[in-house]
Amino acid sequence: MATIKLEIVTPDKGEIFGKDIDMLIVRSKAGELGILPKHANLLTELLTHAMRIKVGGNEELVATSGGFMEVTPDKITVLADAAELPDSIDVERAKSSLKRAEERIAAYKSSSKDSIIDIKRAEAALARAKARLLVKNIHS
Ligand code: ATP
Repeated sequence: MATIKLEIVTPDKGEIFGKDIDMLIVRSKAGELGILPKHANLLTELLTHAMRIKVGGNEELVATSGGFMEVTPDKITVLADAAELPDSIDVERAKSSLKRAEERIAAYKSSSKDSIIDIKRAEAALARAKARLLVKNIHS
C-alpha cells in the first residue's frame, strides 16, 4: 500500500515524529481533513487537537497546539507551536492546566465581561490540556 511521509516539528523540540504513514486526520481551520498518499498540494492552519495517524493497521495520537500543515503528494509537514507524543505527556500537569483554565473561564463568565481575565488565552490553554488528555485516552 502507498504511504506518505509525515514530519511533526516544533520550535522547541525539533522533529518529534518522522515516519511513513497510511493516513493523517487533522482538524484545520477549514474543518476535519484526512490526508492520504498523493494528496494535492495544500497549506492550512491547524487547530489545537489530537491528530490521528494511521500506520500499519494501528492508530497513533499526537497532541498538537496551533501551527500549520503543508502537504505535497509524498510528504506532510506539521509545524506546531507545541506537540507531544503519548509517552511524553505528563497527565497531572495537563489536568492542573485544564482545571486552571476552567476556573478562569468560569470566573470570566460570572464577572462583568471587561474583567482582566484573558478569555481567549484561557480557552486556548483549555484546548491544549484537552488535546493532551485525549492522547492519553482521558476524555475531559
Ligand atoms: P502548562 O500550563 O502546563 O505549562 P501549556 O499549555 O501552557 O501548559 P505550552 O506553552 O503549550 O504549555 O507548552 C510548553 C512546553 O511544555 C512544550 O514543549 C510542550 O510540549 C510542553 N508541555 C506542556 N504541557 C505538557 C504536558 N502536560 N506534558 C508534557 N509536556 C507538556
